[in-house]
Amino acid sequence: MVKLAEWRGKELFRKYGVPVPTGRVVRSAEEGERAAASGSVPLPCVVKAQVLAGGRGKGGAVRFANSPSEVHAATAAILGLEFKGEKVREVLLEGKVAIGRELYLAIALDRSLRSPVLMASAEGGVEIETVADGAVDRQPIDPFPGITGFERRRAARTLGLSGGLANELDPILRALWALFQAEDAELVEINPLAVVGDHLLALDSKVIIEDDAGFRHPEYAEIRDDRTPLEEIAREKEIAFVQLDGNIGVIANGAGLTMATLDVLMELGGKPGVFLDLGGTDDPKKVTEAFLLMAEARPNAVFLNIFGGVTRCDTVATGLVAAMRQVPEANRFPLVARIRGNNEKEGIEILRAAGVTSVPDLRASAEAVVAAAGGGR
Ligand code: ADP
Ligand code: MG
Repeated sequence: MVKLAEWRGKELFRKYGVPVPTGRVVRSAEEGERAAASGSVPLPCVVKAQVLAGGRGKGGAVRFANSPSEVHAATAAILGLEFKGEKVREVLLEGKVAIGRELYLAIALDRSLRSPVLMASAEGGVEIETVADGAVDRQPIDPFPGITGFERRRAARTLGLSGGLANELDPILRALWALFQAEDAELVEINPLAVVGDHLLALDSKVIIEDDAGFRHPEYAEIRDDRTPLEEIAREKEIAFVQLDGNIGVIANGAGLTMATLDVLMELGGKPGVFLDLGGTDDPKKVTEAFLLMAEARPNAVFLNIFGGVTRCDTVATGLVAAMRQVPEANRFPLVARIRGNNEKEGIEILRAAGVTSVPDLRASAEAVVAAAGGGR
């Protein structure tokens, strides 16, 4: 999934015709001050951290400024923040508007309904999860007609809009739907959609692009801001590497075995922290690279679970042993291995010679690694 930063989402809003305030993104306090002084950002303005986490308003990551020097100060302060674990590198400056009401409007892909759903609520401006279920109206959208007149009128009623404001909602809904479809989004959210005088204005954007449509959108390949630095390196090396919150590293081959391994560890109370899918690779060089990357994530223990089908156990083991020798002392970790299948005996022998025992039983090996990582339940 590709989550777009607010300013990128707003660029799409502009392109498709959802009204947004005048603004621009800056990457330093000086740049911010110049933008305000030159009038390319209207004053007073809002200064917003461009991080992917929500709740910036409440968390001090949205500030206001009245002059170029205040923009400098606010931008500097926000650029110095680490917001919910994410370093702020970009700041959006945009004109401050006088908000009448804050509404919520979104189109999301509902996987259980297998349908896009139009969501509307008169209680916008707060995180939607905190709004009572009954206060969010959900209308499944048939993709062929798209959003119909009936659905638009019902949304207007939910939002409490009538007259000119209801008329303004129509093109916004059309634009949102066009964006949702053409960009292959799984979520397009405006929260808040603000009533400003006689007009509607999108003050925030949340756009998530569907991963499976990536081949249709090469333009998004470069802006996966949700990757960790190690995941970024892995992507460049074409290694399937994912970082989670836990402390056990998992190296397996094939998505199925990798997921099953994570399930078994969770079942035993272990917390998988990083996993690496070797896929069909048994190229020792690639295995070494992958293993070194794993070591950099500093797991408490690593579980190597390999099934040699196409992959040969002995070449995987060779790559692994080569890699183990290169891991710096500080990044060393206990390793539990389970290798089965093609050239199993040779693989086990290579590991044994390097001091790693292969435990053939899945449950026993998983228990061993959970214990080595500091225990489960
Ligand atoms: P988040 O959802 O991360 O809290 P928002 O972009 O929704 O961030 O901003 C939080 C709040 O800040 C909004 O609900 C709104 O009240 C206020 N706000 C945001 N942009 C503007 C703006 N351009 N003018 C005035 N107020 C704004
Ligand atoms: Mg918001």
